[in-house]
Amino acid sequence: MTTPIFMNVNTSAPTPKVVMSYGMGEDSTAILLRWLEDPTSRDFDLTDLAVVTAMTGDEWESTRTVVEAHILPRMAAAGVRFIQAARSRRHVTKAGDGVVVLSDSRAPTRLHLEGDYTLWREMAEAGTIPQSGGARTCSVHSKGDVLDPIIAKITRGHSYRHVLGFEAGELRRAAKDETYNTASRTGEYPLIEWEWYRDDAIDYTRSIIGTSPGRSACFYCPFSLGNKASRAHMLTRYAAEPAIAARTLLMEHLALALNPAQGLIGGKRLIDLIRTEAMTGVLDAWEDLLGSQRHAIYEVRRIISARGGDPDVAGNVQRSLRLRCTGTREMLQDVLDRLAADGAAKGVTAAITGDDGIMRLYQHQRAATFPTIERFFVVAPALAPTKERAGFDERWAAFVNDTGPAAAA
Ligand code: SF4
Repeated sequence: MTTPIFMNVNTSAPTPKVVMSYGMGEDSTAILLRWLEDPTSRDFDLTDLAVVTAMTGDEWESTRTVVEAHILPRMAAAGVRFIQAARSRRHVTKAGDGVVVLSDSRAPTRLHLEGDYTLWREMAEAGTIPQSGGARTCSVHSKGDVLDPIIAKITRGHSYRHVLGFEAGELRRAAKDETYNTASRTGEYPLIEWEWYRDDAIDYTRSIIGTSPGRSACFYCPFSLGNKASRAHMLTRYAAEPAIAARTLLMEHLALALNPAQGLIGGKRLIDLIRTEAMTGVLDAWEDLLGSQRHAIYEVRRIISARGGDPDVAGNVQRSLRLRCTGTREMLQDVLDRLAADGAAKGVTAAITGDDGIMRLYQHQRAATFPTIERFFVVAPALAPTKERAGFDERWAAFVNDTGPAAAA
């Protein structure tokens, strides 16, 4: 059980002059390590440093292995303050409500990689994946929103230097971060100052500890999967950690079942790539995990508006998700197959198996123009609870008289 922020941050600790956001990846690890190993690389005392990390709960186990074996012991030996935090299921506010502090210690021994309310859990309960178009809202919610109130709490309005691990090739990110400077906060980017690119950071870390923590990211990160080089790195890690890969595929599978457009690789499916690459260890772990899941028949309804009234452009989407019944995958697929045969005989439904191999039983298929609606039934892991905004039924009824196989399911 974790404790709310204001009960767990050490408020009697000296106010830090330097706060480092530690993402546990190659870049920020190199900075921390150099500061610990080489006092000439910094112009402050380590007692003035606070290192803060927000746990999404979904980092790679290999990150834990390296950080616990090589970084935490050095931090503890130097007495560096390390605050580990995460978001809880509660809504996170600027004042820190909803944030949990997992550890605040100058002698850290354990990485609380498990977080609290993990991003994976949040996504699965919403039946979706982190959205890779536009801003990284998942990162803002899981990391930025968690760290901001903690930093405010420990710096108490005093001036501080906020260190981030942007490497020499990330000048634009640094320039953007500088726009967040305030009268008390000044962003600093040591790797850019040292003119270190990521390879320099990795080389340095390897020269000191003989290994590297690898790239830091959630194990299902669509931004990493969308990048060719990062994707290759992810596939290597999946091969080494098939259970993690299986959890990634479970998230994707549920999101796909509820929305065929939800693939983790920029809309394309990770499962297809895993099959193409013939990653049998991952596929075996995935089949085992899927087979162990309690499943549900979901009823999915969407009302898709026309953007700006233009019938050719999709606008806002409202979704209603209902669990009709739960059981084993085989049993429920059997039920859905029978409903499909019955509905086809009456000419009221269409069973469509997409190229994702998932059969969806449609009572309403979306039209090519907007506004439009869709309604289908599908078997998928029972991880997403029933969810529907107030008033959805009234809006739905405005489109159609709601009868059909729903009652039978
Ligand atoms: S690592 Fe990727 S999925 Fe995780 S919070 Fe950051 S952007 Fe989102």
